[in-house]
Amino acid sequence: MQLENRLESIVKKVRSYHPDPNIPQLRDAYEYARRMHEGQTRKSGEPYLTHPLEVMDIIADLRLDVASLVAGLLHDTVEDTETTVEDLRIRFGDDVAFLVDGVTKLSKFEFNTRQEAQAENIRKMIIAMSRDLRVILVKLADRLHNMRTLKYMSSSGQERKAQETMDIYAPLAHRLGLHWVKTELEDLSFRYLFPEAYYEIAEKVASKKRQRQSFIRKVISILDDLLREHKIVAEIYGRPKNFWSIYRKMRHQQIEFEQVFDVLAFRIIVDERAQCYEALGLVHNLWKPIPGRFKDYIAISKPNGYQSLHTSVIGPYQERIEIQIRTQAMHKVAEEGIAAHWLYKEGKAVPDRDDEKFAWLHRLMEEHQDHEDPVEFLESVKIDLFHDEVYVFTPQGDVLSFPSGATTVDFAYAIHTEVGHHCSGAKVNGKMVPLKTQLQNGDIVEILTHKNQRPNKDWLSFVKTGRARTKIQKTVRTEQRERSRQLGRELLDKELKQYNTNIRAWERSGKLDEALELSRFGTLEEMLGEIGYGKAQADIIVDKIYGDSDAEEAEKKKKKESAGKLGQIWNKIVDRGRTGVVLDGIEDVMVTYAKCCNPVPGDDIIGFVTRGRGLSVHTRECSRVSHLEKERQIDVRWANDTEVPDSARRPVSVRVYCTDKPGLLANISQSFTKAGVNISQAQCVTTDDRRAVNTFEVLVHNRDQLKKAMRNIEKIKGVYKVERATN
Ligand code: MN
Repeated sequence: MQLENRLESIVKKVRSYHPDPNIPQLRDAYEYARRMHEGQTRKSGEPYLTHPLEVMDIIADLRLDVASLVAGLLHDTVEDTETTVEDLRIRFGDDVAFLVDGVTKLSKFEFNTRQEAQAENIRKMIIAMSRDLRVILVKLADRLHNMRTLKYMSSSGQERKAQETMDIYAPLAHRLGLHWVKTELEDLSFRYLFPEAYYEIAEKVASKKRQRQSFIRKVISILDDLLREHKIVAEIYGRPKNFWSIYRKMRHQQIEFEQVFDVLAFRIIVDERAQCYEALGLVHNLWKPIPGRFKDYIAISKPNGYQSLHTSVIGPYQERIEIQIRTQAMHKVAEEGIAAHWLYKEGKAVPDRDDEKFAWLHRLMEEHQDHEDPVEFLESVKIDLFHDEVYVFTPQGDVLSFPSGATTVDFAYAIHTEVGHHCSGAKVNGKMVPLKTQLQNGDIVEILTHKNQRPNKDWLSFVKTGRARTKIQKTVRTEQRERSRQLGRELLDKELKQYNTNIRAWERSGKLDEALELSRFGTLEEMLGEIGYGKAQADIIVDKIYGDSDAEEAEKKKKKESAGKLGQIWNKIVDRGRTGVVLDGIEDVMVTYAKCCNPVPGDDIIGFVTRGRGLSVHTRECSRVSHLEKERQIDVRWANDTEVPDSARRPVSVRVYCTDKPGLLANISQSFTKAGVNISQAQCVTTDDRRAVNTFEVLVHNRDQLKKAMRNIEKIKGVYKVERATN
């Protein structure tokens, strides 16, 4: 009777999320399981049926389809009763039979201490997952209930199960984005693996429980008032972090419980994406954010699809608290993981192939199915689950590991330095991809080389491994030195031409040695290099030889012409293969953007040949420009002002003068967001007369985008002035 009531409450839960559940089949499955498990008891002494029922309840919490719920009820019938898979097929259909069969097979694999056997288990588990993820989800539900009732097991069994859960199932839940399942599995495992530490933390968390509860209420009420005041409808929750993550933090940072900050985590759930940033602005305005703790997983979501803003602030009473801000939709994904995307759809076995969020899963499957060596397989799967490293294959099937975020260029350099130097293209899983493509687990990577290809300094912006970085830097520096010598040679020859001579004639006449000595250079190459870099000036060197007399006339003439000439020379010398962003014709030299005016694509710009720092680009409006030597200025323009990749967005400072009113900051942030502009840093200074000066570091694609954001901000009530800040 009690169990039937339990069934009814689960059925009610299913009705709450499933639009059209097959309830008679659920009841039939319950009847069937009841009869088959009749007389069996669990170690706790309860009827065995309690277990499949609770597993079904967890599956309902995961909001899965009816076949999964039925499979949950029946998952132990094949293993522990007379029932066969065929029986299930006849009575409940192919889907259910397949799922129960899969779960039964998974349940047979037990981890023992031998690594090879572990590998074999995980392999089969993952392969099963590739065919139908629901198998894994039912298995996770089964494991979760077993962990909840682990106290009835023998202590050696407890430890083994807990270790297995910690090693395999919790990371798996994490990978699938099932946050609550992951944290519960972790805390349950923690309790049996490190009982002393667990109970110590549990006790400490409990001892301050009342105090903490009132603190949580206080923070929630402050946040609630704040958001209400700004007409943002939000749900706010606060809770202590899970014990395992507290413990992990203590262990990693080697600190005591008392030193673990932000033990409390708050969650603000709003309706709209823009409100996330708005709420963030309000929170940061209210409580001081802790530098370096802000993470924007909305703009860049985690591999499992998770999206949220994370920040830590100094809250009331000077406590550090963590705050996560996201929309209802993002929250759904965070809690339900992949289920939120597709599993409520009846009978759908795997996510769509084109669903990018799960591309990793398919890749993992395809690559690992044929693995011969289980140990190697375990390694690669473990690394995938812990996702700070990626494992990829050479076309020959060798496995190489890289730090997460590594690209095809890192791969090329890992193969061989020469392959890196000459890599001209890459194929991932048989398809041509850009060189900066980041490697994913299971990718098969092939590098194409060309003898004329040389390392490019742009590669430095995306390579992850030290090996690739060092090799590229070295080559780029050598080539830069070579180019600056060439430039130096041309500059010196131009100078000498005014005296109807040239470097070669100087060498013959001995004037060169004289010049080297006067200017204290050891060799011609050294001198040319210094001239090219702008560290030495050709005209001064020449003047030292010919004195002032003839020089003055030539000087005047030269000054008139050299701006144009220098520009031509630069263009001629540096017109090489271009790779992307920057400036017409001179992409291959050291280009730096002046920090004083931070030019962005679309701005009117001018180049300046610096002494030793390559070409510096200023806006024409920049106040510094008038102080720069005319001879060193050259005309430059943007190569392409429409297509700027996100990675090449330019930083700009925008200063907003406004009244010191709390809501304003949020409005301003929102205006940036609306224009598609990302804020990377904000600094707010209030003055005594209740005014505020907010300086935002933002990343923009081009001038139009920036202007749009600035115009929007100008319209906000309470804003006096918006300007691009120069330093
Ligand atoms: Mn079970």
